[in-house]
Amino acid sequence: MIIVMQKGAGDQEVTSVVDLIKKAGLDVHLSRGQELTIIGVIGDKTKLDPEELQTLAGVEKIMHVTAAWKRASRDFHPDNTKVELGPLSFGGEKISVIAGPCAVENWDQILEAARGVKAAGASALRGGAFKPRSNPYSFQGLAKQGLELLAEARAETGLPVVTELLSERDLDLVAEYADVIQIGARNMQNFILLKEAGKTGKPILLKRGMAATLEEFLLAAEYILAQGNPHVILCERGIRTFEDYTRNTLALNIIPMIKKVSHLPIIADPSHGTGRSDLVIPMSRAAIAAGADGLIIEVHPHPEKAMVDGPQSLNFAQFGELMKECRPIARTLGRNM
Ligand code: PEP
Ligand code: MN
Repeated sequence: MIIVMQKGAGDQEVTSVVDLIKKAGLDVHLSRGQELTIIGVIGDKTKLDPEELQTLAGVEKIMHVTAAWKRASRDFHPDNTKVELGPLSFGGEKISVIAGPCAVENWDQILEAARGVKAAGASALRGGAFKPRSNPYSFQGLAKQGLELLAEARAETGLPVVTELLSERDLDLVAEYADVIQIGARNMQNFILLKEAGKTGKPILLKRGMAATLEEFLLAAEYILAQGNPHVILCERGIRTFEDYTRNTLALNIIPMIKKVSHLPIIADPSHGTGRSDLVIPMSRAAIAAGADGLIIEVHPHPEKAMVDGPQSLNFAQFGELMKECRPIARTLGRNM
């Protein structure tokens, strides 16, 4: 249920509506936009009498929301949510790009990567210290040492760091070093992890599960939002289809659909979405054209030597070209990159 307040309704009127809802033992999501104030009701709404609410001063109308992902829904929160951190900004006019290697390998690699992507216009550095590998014998990441190297690269370049949290076991450690905590596709429905990550209050980059529907994706975001953490960035990273000439199928339809039904920013990951470096630039252009709020791109100083995801990693020249080709598309849409 959402209660739309009349234009010009004052604090006191809003407070009396909120008090009535809370007295019934329900929770409230308050959205004060430029035009409208909307009060979202969370919980068992049969405990409320809509007629009593309707008679309160300042109430314009009462609407019923059927979506289960209430906090993520645009009905609850009509204005775009902006997630901002230093040079990073998602959900506003600016389109930010996160770039860097799949995994942190050593100091020279991560420093070179950080400098290279910064020079081309990236706003944040990515790099996994804990890697979710299909094969248990593959390189699993440098763990704490990888986080320390990321922190040093941040100190050298000023770029905020985006890195994956694989397990609750590493929560404190990852939260200590990460500016943005990434929850990977394989963990999108690890609900305990979502709750714990949400509680840190840090921005969370939530990647779509490889077989997750839009509803499941937004319900996963809802777990984080329900912890009182509004800083959620969604990421389309490709889904599993019957098609196998690419690693995944980058499902760009979801970008305009999410923008329609949710206020959360959504970015695209054409690196994992295609698995092929030769498709990353065209699919980045397409993602920006579809309305993505940002990109996350795998860039390695020497892709042919990368320990993880080399075939989908760009070198610096290719990443520079990507930025050059995407900027005019962003401008056409009234955005900057
Ligand atoms: C990654 O970003 O390197 C990664 C493992 O992504 P995903 O969870 O989308 O597979
Ligand atoms: Mn990767």
